[in-house]
Amino acid sequence: MRKKIGLALVGALAVTGAVLAYNTVTFEPAGLADASDIRLAGPIEPDANAAAQRLGAAIRFQTISNQDPARNRMDEWSGFQAWLQTTYPAAHQAMQREIVGTASLLYRWQGSDPSLQPIILMGHQDVVPVTPGTEKDWRHPPFAGVVADGAVWGRGAIDDKGSLIALFEGLELLAASGFKPKRTIIVVSGHDEEVGGTGAQAAAAKLKAEGVKALFTLDEGSAIITDAPIVNGPAIMIAVAEKGYATLRVTARAPGGHSSMPPAEIGTVTLAKAITAIHADQFPTRLDQPAFGTVQALAAEKGGFMKVVAANPWLFGGLIKSQMAGTPAGAAQLHTTIAPTMLQGSPKENVLPQDAFGLINYRLAPWDRSADIMARAKAAVGDLPVEFSWEREPREASPVSSTRSQGWKLLRAAAEAEAPGAPVAPFMVVGGTDSRYLKEVSQDTYRFQAMQLSTKETAMIHGTNEHISVDNLARMIRFFTRLVATAAG
Ligand SMILES: [Zn+2]
Repeated sequence: MRKKIGLALVGALAVTGAVLAYNTVTFEPAGLADASDIRLAGPIEPDANAAAQRLGAAIRFQTISNQDPARNRMDEWSGFQAWLQTTYPAAHQAMQREIVGTASLLYRWQGSDPSLQPIILMGHQDVVPVTPGTEKDWRHPPFAGVVADGAVWGRGAIDDKGSLIALFEGLELLAASGFKPKRTIIVVSGHDEEVGGTGAQAAAAKLKAEGVKALFTLDEGSAIITDAPIVNGPAIMIAVAEKGYATLRVTARAPGGHSSMPPAEIGTVTLAKAITAIHADQFPTRLDQPAFGTVQALAAEKGGFMKVVAANPWLFGGLIKSQMAGTPAGAAQLHTTIAPTMLQGSPKENVLPQDAFGLINYRLAPWDRSADIMARAKAAVGDLPVEFSWEREPREASPVSSTRSQGWKLLRAAAEAEAPGAPVAPFMVVGGTDSRYLKEVSQDTYRFQAMQLSTKETAMIHGTNEHISVDNLARMIRFFTRLVATAAG
C-alpha cells in the first residue's frame, strides 16, 4: 500500500514537473504586443544644452498651484503661456491654440487625413509648492532654473515642465523641419493638475462635444526605471492604469462634557476602535492586470527560476503575491490601500469630544469601486456607533488600457529606441494624473515619460532638489519627435 502511494506521488511530481517545464518553455507574457510591425521614424536630434536653458526659463515662471486657489498668481501662467508662444514659433504657427477652463491650453495640429484618429499628448503647467522650511535644502533655488552639473534644477524639472518643454521642443523641431501630420495631433496642457485638474476636465468636455475619439492619450506618470524589480536593471514601465482616490470620514458622536467625569462611551475611544477595525480588514491582494503583466514581463526577461514562477501562476501565484506585498510599493499594485491619515477629538485636553472624526484615504484598485469601500468599512465596524460620509466625491480607478493596441505598439517602439534591450512592462500609477479625464475621448490612455530614473530618484518628484539630467531631457525630446513622426507621419 505504502509503495503504491509512493509511486503515485512520484508520478504526480513528474507530471507537475513536466507541466512546469512546458509552461516555462512556451511562456510569453500574456497580452503584451511587441512593436515589430512598427516602422519607427528617425528622431530629430535636439540641441540639448539650448533646450536645457529653455527648461530653466520655464521653471522660473512660478506657476504654483496652492491648495487655496486664491493664492495662485495667475499672471505667472499668462507669462508662461506667452513665453511658450515666442519660444516655440514654428510649433505655434503650425497649431491652433485655445485657452480652456481658466488657464489650460488646448492645441491642435490639423492632420491631412481626417479618417485617422487623432493622438493626444499631455503635460501640465502647474507645479506643487516647495514645503516651507525646506528651501535651504535645495542645492539650487527651486525657482531659479539653474543648469549645472549636467542637469536642470528646480520645481517642475520632472513634474511636469520637463515633459511639457520636451514636447514643445519636439513639436518645434518637427514643425521647423516641414513635417506635415496625416493624423491630427492634440496637445492638452492643464493649469491645475496638482489641485484637481479642472482645466483638463474642460478640455475633455470640449473634445467630447466635438466627438473626438483619439487613438491614444499620453501623459506623465511612469518612466524607464533603471532599477526595476525582478530584473534589477532598466525596464520601460508604461502605465496602463491609474488607481482611484477616495477619502472616507468616520465620525463618532458622543455627549461630550468634562473629562473629570468621563462616561463609559467616549467618542475618541469609539473612533479609535472603528479606525482600527477598518484598517485591520485589509482588501485582499489580487494578482490581476496590470500587476500580473508587470511581473510576467519582468520575469520573462529575468529568466531562470523567475520565469518558471511567472509561467506557472497556478502553482506560484501565492508566492508572487506574498513577495510583492512585502513592500508598500509592491502591495499598492495588488489591492485597494487603506491609509487613516487624520484624527480629531476635542479642541482641549480637559474636554470630551462631541464628535470625534478620522479621515481614511483609500487608493482604489481597478476592480474595486467606492461603494465597495463604504460597504467594507461599515461591515468592519459592526455595531460601533459611528457615521460615514465621503470627504469629497470619490474618484474611481481608471480603466486598464490595452497592451495590444496600435497605441501601445507605437509608444513601445518609440520608448524602446531610448532604452535598447530593456524589457517593456505595463504598470499602474498609484497617484493621479490629468489624463484620467480624457478616458471618454481616447481609446487608450498611457502614462510614460521617456526618461531614465531610479526608484530613489522618484522621491524628488514633489520633494527637494527636483532636477532632470540634460541627457534625460534630450531623451524625451527625441522620443516625442519619433513618436509623433511615426504615429502621425
Ligand atoms: Zn504631474
